[in-house]
Amino acid sequence: MRAAVGRGGRRRHPRRRRPATPSVIIGVDVGGTTTAVGLVTRDGDVIAEASAPTRASSRDPLDTIVTLIEELTGRAGRSARPIAVGIGVPGPVDAERGIVGEPVTHIPALAGRALATELGGRVGLPVAVDNDVNALALGEATLGIGRGARSLVVLSVGTGIGAGIVLEGRLVRGAAGFGGELGHTPVKFDGPPCWCGLRGCLAFYASGRGIADLARARLEREPPTMLLKAAGGDPSGITAPLVFRAAEEGDRLAGAIVDEACRAMGAMIGTIVNGLNPEVLVITGGVVESFVKLEAKILRASREYAFPRALAATRIEIVPGDKRSSVRGAAALALYESRVHSRRTR
Ligand SMILES: [Zn+2]
Repeated sequence: MRAAVGRGGRRRHPRRRRPATPSVIIGVDVGGTTTAVGLVTRDGDVIAEASAPTRASSRDPLDTIVTLIEELTGRAGRSARPIAVGIGVPGPVDAERGIVGEPVTHIPALAGRALATELGGRVGLPVAVDNDVNALALGEATLGIGRGARSLVVLSVGTGIGAGIVLEGRLVRGAAGFGGELGHTPVKFDGPPCWCGLRGCLAFYASGRGIADLARARLEREPPTMLLKAAGGDPSGITAPLVFRAAEEGDRLAGAIVDEACRAMGAMIGTIVNGLNPEVLVITGGVVESFVKLEAKILRASREYAFPRALAATRIEIVPGDKRSSVRGAAALALYESRVHSRRTR
């Protein structure tokens, strides 16, 4: 480097610039059991994390979020400068106004809360709030597994099934906020009523709750199998992981339910691929750990429902869910909203 020439022609050393403090985004994932907060770089690296139970005694979930944010920013000190907060919550959200709708799975204290305004007032940063799977879809499309994809769909399979749709770089929220409600779209038009009040839903066949409910209902009609023994003889002890395990061990009843779940997933892949043909389809969530092993079966089923050329153009990723992706998704939501906002005000 050339030394700068100062006034009077004397050589002086260039002033060493202190590197600028990197800006970070605070990502918050509010889960039914755990709230996770992370400091996320603009490249999507989660550089610090903290988590706590969402409902610790009678504590307001918002206090838990604030405590976690203060803990992380305190730890980071001057090494990182938070510029915004993104929050994903497990329920419907009026993202425009930052208000949580109803129901919020397992966190009734958040229903109806103006979370963006309340939290923004306490931490002094702009806050974006949306449904957790919408945030995850933005995270996977901009910073995660589908980085750079203009169109991406996330299907999140846990107790229930949620989905998030990004098309041409924009999140699809729908006219009344129902955009991406793929868990309760039919995979069987004359199927039985689902707990949501509709009929033949994907969640009825392939979600954690659906799989456990189906197993319980069939055990009432059919002779008991190994599955019931695995649940300690009590049908209420049946969970989706137990059904998957029993199926692996050759239990006939559990095997039939798992086969049906795979076919239902295949039919939904057909709906997504034929209807939207996204570049990437990410299937993730708590129950997906069990589905990973069944990938070949699910993809085989999807070939019965999706146009071959459309299916070949969509990259399908079946990956277990993790908190880090959710936190990164919440941060991606904050970045997305700040871009949308600056576009609007320009
Ligand atoms: Zn339903």
